[in-house]
Amino acid sequence: MSLLVISEEKRGVCMSEILLEAKGLKKYFPIKKGLLRRTTAHVKAVDDLSFHVFKGETLGIVGESGCGKSTTGKLLIRLLEATEGEVIYKGKNILHTEKEEMRELRKELQMVFQDPYSSLNPRLTVGQILEEPLANYSLYPKKEWRSKILELLHVVGLGEQAIHRFPHEFSGGQRQRIGIARALMLGPELIIADEPVSALDVSIQSQVLNLLKDLQQQFSLTFIFISHDLSVVNHFCDRILVMYLGRVVEISSKKNLFEKPLHPYSQALLSAVPSPDPKRKKERIILTGDVPSPSNPPTGCAFHPRCPSCMDVCRQIRPVLKQTAAGEAVACHLYTE
Ligand code: SF4
Repeated sequence: MSLLVISEEKRGVCMSEILLEAKGLKKYFPIKKGLLRRTTAHVKAVDDLSFHVFKGETLGIVGESGCGKSTTGKLLIRLLEATEGEVIYKGKNILHTEKEEMRELRKELQMVFQDPYSSLNPRLTVGQILEEPLANYSLYPKKEWRSKILELLHVVGLGEQAIHRFPHEFSGGQRQRIGIARALMLGPELIIADEPVSALDVSIQSQVLNLLKDLQQQFSLTFIFISHDLSVVNHFCDRILVMYLGRVVEISSKKNLFEKPLHPYSQALLSAVPSPDPKRKKERIILTGDVPSPSNPPTGCAFHPRCPSCMDVCRQIRPVLKQTAAGEAVACHLYTE
């Protein structure tokens, strides 16, 4: 069956149907010391994360470097095993599925990585790279592989001649197109794109983002889009989850987050994004201090040492993520009654 025919069948975006849900997701990396390599502490890379992704939407995950965004992406498709929590995909906790079942699920859950060059085997031609998933899953008769590969190369905007060339013969943007074609090869439902354009020139970034948008329409894909760049997220996402030190601090629609961010951390991040309207000047909020260590997070609200609105309660009690009247969610004492 043609990949393009599959796309027709899979069309039908549903923003009210939850495709994937994370519940209390944690990833603690042990810190080992001494001759006996005893665990003395843990780096809490992801700490009690709960959120859901609607079928057909693009959920952005943003935050400073080291906040746990990429770890979250890997936990969701078990490229890393979680310390605790659940990931419900189509009603099933995939953290407890057997190896064989997980292997099957991987067809539907794909990842596009930040650095297209290091994620492509330099010794294989593009044809061989794209053949691998088909061979691993024995999806089609071997005689059809070539036509599938050519079809997908066309879909991602690469010519037929690309099939015989090696990754180093391509530009960064073209290599990312190869990475995207590989992710599409098995007909996925959900693609986790981890900083997919941050290694590319600005002029190429928008081309790759537009390609991803077109593919989302064409194949009815759901995206989790991880980025530190809010301008890119603004271009691409429907809803945005803001992370700080391994936790969710705010989940909001793109419109609400960009027009009226609630959490002081989101406000600071957004204040650094240039306004498209030169008459609407924004006041830049400069955060003081460094991001605290995830192995020894501050008491209470982890953001309190850097927060311009910090109150006494913030140093003692950790705010929980609460739904607002507008349907957003924020973890901040400014919004608790
Ligand atoms: Fe700032 Fe307090 Fe809100 Fe944390 S809980 S973001 S310290 S106001």
